Amino acid sequence: MTIAVPQTFDAVLSEKREEVPGVVTMRLAPVDGRKLSFLPGQFAMLCFPDEPDPQRKCRAYSISSSPQVTDYIEVTIKIVKEWTSRMTSTAVGTKLQVKMPFGRFVLDPTCRDHVFIAGGVGITPFAAMSSFLAATKPEAVRATLFYSAKTPATLIFRERFEKTAREWPELNLAFTITDKEYSGADWPGHRGRLDAEFIKATLGNIAGKKFYLCGSGQMMAGIEEILESMGVAKENIHTEKFG
Ligand SMILES: Cc1cc2nc3c(=O)[nH]c(=O)nc-3n(C[C@H](O)[C@H](O)[C@H](O)COP(=O)(O)OP(=O)(O)OC[C@H]3O[C@@H](n4cnc5c(N)ncnc54)[C@H](O)[C@@H]3O)c2cc1C
Repeated sequence: MTIAVPQTFDAVLSEKREEVPGVVTMRLAPVDGRKLSFLPGQFAMLCFPDEPDPQRKCRAYSISSSPQVTDYIEVTIKIVKEWTSRMTSTAVGTKLQVKMPFGRFVLDPTCRDHVFIAGGVGITPFAAMSSFLAATKPEAVRATLFYSAKTPATLIFRERFEKTAREWPELNLAFTITDKEYSGADWPGHRGRLDAEFIKATLGNIAGKKFYLCGSGQMMAGIEEILESMGVAKENIHTEKFG
């Protein structure tokens, strides 16, 4: 796998959809029709072309669409305050500026047993990685996705991952619901925070596995501590911090 040289281009916002409340996917298609190339897990800089203030111009977003699709990329944005509200309110048909691809948070080609651990909107690079693995089905490779959310309704891309796992049964979904107040009988899966017990029970052992962590700095520090307590070596833990 080669890392493509970053390029800057105008892109039209061709589609927008709400994934869960407060989280919006935006599809960006190059105006000049160029084909896009990136590795799953890499990110794009999304910019307002006419913003004069460099602090308010661009933000980084992991590409959530599959690299098999080359006509556009999708990014999935959690609405926080001003910048994210302004960006996600942009009308379909508007021209934005994109710079991509960036980052080294990508699948280790020597590994056959990937473990993805996501917190909140940190699920985005794993959407691209899982779709890529399901499309390419590399021999004897498997992946486990740990993802916690407060309630089933706030699991971003739940249906997409379930569909991907049906297409590629080597993807094991380990979702957990953390809201103690949530009493819905419709949730058949695990409940409670991501802890060593749940991770060990799901994985069995840690031999030959690479761990990929993505989310807030606070969430990742907690998970890194858990993994180290389980004996996972630092060099087998890859991280992408969103903030
Ligand atoms: C490599 C990389 C990839 C990223 N990928 C994504 C992605 O796929 N999706 C995504 O939504 N973000 C992603 N981010 C984060 C993104 O770049 C912005 O930092 C984020 O959208 C918030 O931008 P902002 O502070 O300008 O937002 P504003 O809406 O202007 O909010 C500003 C305020 O909100 C606070 N804040 C910022 N983020 C959060 C948060 N998550 N929870 C609570 N408060 C917060 C800030 O401290 C600040 O006070 C990524 C960041 C990096 C570095």
